[in-house]
Parts: sequence; C-alpha cells; structure tokens
Amino acid sequence: MAEFLESTVEVAVSMLVEGTFTYAVPEALASRARVGMRVLVPFGGRRTTGYVLGPGSLPAEKDIKSILDILDETPLFPAGMIPLFRWTAEYYKHPLGAVIQTALPGGLTVSESAAWAITEEGRGRLEENGLPPDEARVLGLLAEKRLRSRELRVRLGPEVPGTLLRSLERRGFVVQARTLRAGGAKALQERWVRLTSGAPASGRLSPQKRALLARVASAGALPVREVAGQAPHAGAHLRALERAGYVELFSRRLYRDPFGEAILPDAPPRLTADQETVVSTVCGSLGKGFRTFLLQGVTGSGKTEVYMRVAAHAVASGHSVLVLVPEIALITQTERRFRARFGEHVAVLHSALSQGERFDQWVRILRGEVPIAIGVRSAVFAPFSDIGVIIVDEEHDASYKQEGGLHYSARDLAVVRAQQAGAVALLGSATPSLQSYHNVRSGKYNQLTLPQRIEARPLPAIRTVDLRQCRDLRGPGRFISAELNRAISETLGRGEQVLLFLNRRGFASFPVCAACGAALRCRHCDISLTLHQAANAYRCHYCGFSRPASAACDACGSPRIKRLGMGTEKVEAAVRALFPKARIARMDRDTTRRKHEILGLLKGLREKTIDLLVGTQMVAKGHDFPDITLVGIICADLSLSFPDFRAGERTFQLLAQVAGRAGRGEQPGQVILQTYNPEHFSIRAARDQDFEAFYEQEIGFRKALGYPPFARLIQLRISGRDAQITREQAEALGAQCRALQAGDPAFAKSIQILGPIEAALARIAGHFRWQILIKSLQAAVLHRFADRLLAGHSSALTGRQVRTVIDVDPLSLM
Ligand SMILES: [Zn+2]
Ligand SMILES: [Zn+2]
Repeated sequence: MAEFLESTVEVAVSMLVEGTFTYAVPEALASRARVGMRVLVPFGGRRTTGYVLGPGSLPAEKDIKSILDILDETPLFPAGMIPLFRWTAEYYKHPLGAVIQTALPGGLTVSESAAWAITEEGRGRLEENGLPPDEARVLGLLAEKRLRSRELRVRLGPEVPGTLLRSLERRGFVVQARTLRAGGAKALQERWVRLTSGAPASGRLSPQKRALLARVASAGALPVREVAGQAPHAGAHLRALERAGYVELFSRRLYRDPFGEAILPDAPPRLTADQETVVSTVCGSLGKGFRTFLLQGVTGSGKTEVYMRVAAHAVASGHSVLVLVPEIALITQTERRFRARFGEHVAVLHSALSQGERFDQWVRILRGEVPIAIGVRSAVFAPFSDIGVIIVDEEHDASYKQEGGLHYSARDLAVVRAQQAGAVALLGSATPSLQSYHNVRSGKYNQLTLPQRIEARPLPAIRTVDLRQCRDLRGPGRFISAELNRAISETLGRGEQVLLFLNRRGFASFPVCAACGAALRCRHCDISLTLHQAANAYRCHYCGFSRPASAACDACGSPRIKRLGMGTEKVEAAVRALFPKARIARMDRDTTRRKHEILGLLKGLREKTIDLLVGTQMVAKGHDFPDITLVGIICADLSLSFPDFRAGERTFQLLAQVAGRAGRGEQPGQVILQTYNPEHFSIRAARDQDFEAFYEQEIGFRKALGYPPFARLIQLRISGRDAQITREQAEALGAQCRALQAGDPAFAKSIQILGPIEAALARIAGHFRWQILIKSLQAAVLHRFADRLLAGHSSALTGRQVRTVIDVDPLSLM
C-alpha cells in the first residue's frame, strides 16, 4: 500500500456520529500512516479511535486538528474493503466509523475514559480527618487507586452524586485523569533462538554449550521452549551464549489453534451427475465478473461437496473464498469437512473464539496466509483483498440478520460484496427465501438445482397426524400421538435414532392460576413466563426475569398454578417415561450454552451413544446425522400464529428443514408431523416437500398485500421506559414522517406510512415498544425518504429517554 504523501487524511471515528473528518498528519507520523490503520484522534474534547480511509478533503493549511498517534504497525483492513464499508453505512443508515468497528474483530478499540485521581492536597486533607463521611469515603478509595465514575458508583452505590465529585474537584482534592484503555486483543509472540551472523569461534565453550550451539545451527532457528527443556541448565547456557554474542533471541508470531480435535484428511468422493453440472456451471463463471447463483438442493443432496469443489477451483486459480454459515453449531460441521479437505488453509471467524484467537484468524486472512475463511454473519467483512467466490449456506436462515447495533443482512451484504469485487455469489438452501427465489424468477439470480439426494437415497415419507384427535386425552398422549409413539418404539427397536422437534424450550410455556385464571406473566415484558423444571424456576425468554417454581399467582395469591403449554423439557420428560431404556438427550439453548456442549451432543449422535434427541430449531439447521430415521414434529403450529407476514414462510422452512434430517444415511427415513392445522398451505407444502407450491401461494399473498419482495420496508422502532413519553415520541415521529411525505410529490405518490402502532410485543425488559413501518415499491425513493428524515436531525430520533432504531429491510416485525 502506497505511503501517504498527502499531509491530511480522511478519518472515520468509532463513535455514533455521521460522516468522516479530515485530520492533519504531523510530519513525525507521515511516513507511517497508511489506509486501513487505526489512529488516535481528538474528537469533541476527547480522544478516540479513528480509521484512515484515504487522503483528506481539506488542505493542511486550513485550521484542522492533527492525529495524535498511529495505533497499528500495519493496516487492519485492505483499502479494497472501504467501498463495502461505505455502502453498508449508507444503506443501513449507520455511521461509517461504527460500521468499521463492527466489521473488525472485537477488542481493538482504544477508547478514552476519565478516571478520578486524588491529588497531593487531597491526601493531606484526608489525613487531617474531620471531613464529612461521604467525602472521606470517596477520597479513601481514590487514595488506593484511580477509579472511573462507574467504578466509584459500583463501590459506593448509585447515590454518589456527581456534585460531590465536582465539589472535591473544585477544592483541588481530586482531578480527572485521562487514561487510555487499550483493547484486549494482542498478538501472541513466541521467543525463538538463532545463530548470530559471524558468530565467534567456539574454542573455549563447555561441551554442553557446544552441543546446544550445534543444535541451533543445524535447525537454523528454534523455539526457546524446545531448547530450554532439553538438558539441565540449558536455559542458563542459552542466556550465556546470548550474552557472549553466539546466538540471538527473537520473537515470532504464534497462531492460537481454535480447533480442538485432530481431523483426518478426506478424499473427494465421486460427484453425482447433478453435482457435476452445478460445479462446472459455477466454476465456469469464476473470474468472469459478478454473478449470483441460487443453488436449490433438497436436504441431503450434497451441497457442501459442491461448495468444496467450487472453493478448490477458486483457490487453484489464485482467489480467496468466503463461506458463510448461519450458526456456530453448524460451523463445527462445515469446518470439519473443509479442514479434512483443505487442512491448514482454512480460517474460522465466529464469536465462540476468544478475542485473541479471532484477531489471529483475522490477521492470517489479511496477510493472505489462508485462502479460505468460514464464519457466521460478521465474517462477511473478512479482510480478503482478492475474493473469488462468496458462498452463503442455508441462505434463508434468519440468523444472517443482525439485530442491534448495525442492523444488517449478511446474506445481502455478501451479494453486494461479490458485486463490488466482480466475484461469484453462491447462495444455497433446500428451502430458499422467498426473496432469493423471486430474484431467480425475475432473472436477477441464476438457478441451479440438486433435485435428488446423493446415492439416489429417497426423501423421507411424511405423514401428518391431526392433533385435534388427541385433544381430550390426558398425559403424554395429548402431544405424543399413538402413531408417533408406535413409530418411536419401532425405530428404537431397530437400533436406529429418533429426533423429536418442538420449537419451544422449557417445560410449561403457559402457566395459569387454577383459582382465578390469570396467566403468570413477566413483570417487565408483555409475555407469559415459562416453567423450567431443571432450573426449578419460571423464566422470561425475553429478559431473563425469573421466579421460583413455587411462586403464587400475582393476581389472587393462590399457590395453585396449572402448568399448561409445553416445551422441550416436557417432551423429554414424557419420552423418558414412555421409553425408560432409551438414551435420551435434549438440544436447546438451555443445554448448549457453551461450544463444547454442542460438540458433545453432536458427537453423541455420531457415535450413537444417544438414541433419541429432543430439540428446538437448533436441530433443524443443516446437521447431518446419518442414523436418524425417524423425525417427529411434536407441534408444527407454534410459529404459524406469529403476527408477522413471514410466519408462513418461516413455518414452511422450519418444517421442511427438520423433516430433511431424516433418512440421510443408508436407511430410508420417515417423518410424523403433528399439527392442529393440517389444511394450512404452509404445512401441506412442507408435508409434500413442495417448495414450488408453497412459493406460488405465498407470493400471491405478498403481491396482494404489497409486502417484500414486491415492496421494500424500513422499520422505525421506538422504545422507552416511560409509557406516556414513549407514546408521545412515537406519535411525534409519525407526524414528522407524514409531514415529510406530504411535502414532496414523489413521496406522496409512492411512500406508505403505517403506524405508529404498539408493537406485537408491547413491552420487553421494562421498555414500551412502538413501531412505524415505511413502505415503498421503489427502493431508491424509500431510501431518499429515510435519509431526509435522518438529515432533519429530528428531535424525535435523538430523544434521551426514548430510543429510536432504524431497521432497513427488517426481518422481524414483532
Ligand atoms: Zn390467581
Ligand atoms: Zn421479561
């Protein structure tokens, strides 16, 4: 990367401010500044981290501030990624510096925080005694060490008034000391030893030292730890040799290994004719400019093998490959297969790595040391500079959407990144999103299909069971029908594995008072509590609020609570009672808080130490368990009743995916799908594994109602602790939207504003929630509208007690 001859640079600061800023580069730093480095800059009376994007737009003669320091030896991202950062900031209405901060691995931001420190005068005054007790306590703590305001409040309770500190400051007893807090990520270094050039002759050395020297000489260079442990006093001899100028010690960068297990290399299998066609089509367009493919392959059709062939081809022609998967649990599987094929040439990026590990992986990619990276959504920002293909597996998965902070869709950004890089985007799924399939129909994407499972294995046979016939039964018979019961028993009898799916964790999801009928609700959310038997408590799935399982009714005080509704815990308890000999495990968020717990469950299935697995949607996602021959869907309807226009799409995808877990090995599979709505088209289409039928029906609804993929949406989410103020802010913002709409004929014609309305979940974690939906058939007009709304710096958008979040292309409207 070229050195800067310019005397000013354009910098994006890592704060929630719009735009970029020009800073002067002092002469002393000029030779070191590069695009992609972090710099320390003064901003609004503080110092903060900024990212160098290029030459500044103002000449140095102008009265501009200078950068204070350069924080990196080498750039952290290639200049080629800046257009992607700018596009993301622009499209998702998020400050550029904050976008870059989100993209970079965590722990890199150097931020400034003010700490309080005691002065000499303060110490003197403290020793004299006679201070008011609260002042003496504050000075006493600060006499031990500097503390930030937040730390002081933690120690003294929230009642430490700012006025007290300011009063002490005025009297000169304390000062605000500015200290820099560096991020936690650091490169791991290892000490190595090598001969010095022109080493003195080894005449007067002891035999031990001579042996040591010979060893270093024959190896060229060695890690110190290898030498030091070899012989008695080897460490001391080494230091003596160093002092005498025979050898020198130096540091070498060490990569932490994020992989626990050794993985044996695999040999590529023979491709099916369908796989062959897909691979040659995609490989044929590598290096020939931007193109997006949608690979629609039924479950078990060998999509991962296709990805690996395409990756091998891209790497062989000198390009890098980015593979996105929706969840960490799936990375372990994809990672294993890629590592078996590509060995050390794979980097992995996800949040289960430590900060240091993630930083290492990032640097390996940045330096071009690995051509392939696998990761979850934030890996879309992996710092490759020569990307050839971006693969998005399970492209329909909602996990690609980031909620909170920078709201973005990693799948959509992957396509944008491929476009900017002139690369190929390959999206794969058995149940594509309506959006992507619509893009195929309209000619934007190219369709590829794998209509059959590998080795001509049949798709599982799916039978529906009408749960209404079980309604009057008692006990487990209410939700494990006679048919399902029989099928489980037969499957276990044959020594095969069973998967039972229910998309809700916990034991009882709908506890109600037997005396007055009131539901047991969260005190901070507008939602029922769920009984978790293992934890012996009722819990809120939105805010974590918890009450003991012995809790009484809030309304009438009665201790008699009926535990209606169900979750995976109840299903597990039922099958344990029905099949006492089976080895049963459960996979949901309660049992997989750590990465090794997921690995343990996956291993148990693979090694057949688990006969029956009960799980939530975690089990539906892309896993490949060859010996599962029966999948039981306990209740297919849970997601159908969500007040969201995508409820039908989600239900279809989930059911088709979970059904696809059956019969992936040599034995054929069967699925029993229990439902209260056997005639619903999402459920019928899932039963028939008929994506086309589902698409035709659903796309008709979307068109009639003007929802995506026909219209584009931007959602404004307004939330605050005070019901009244939040409502007023939502209404004020709604009025501003309408005024903006009325003031411009283009907006009046093609913008539709829905709301403000109370959100379907009207209260979460003590915050009242409102929303406004802005809709248009024309993306450009919609974005112009949102930009004008933001540019107005509307007071409603920046209110202190009420938070407003902008979500472009929202996935969840609840
Ligand atoms: Zn009651
Ligand atoms: Zn709650």
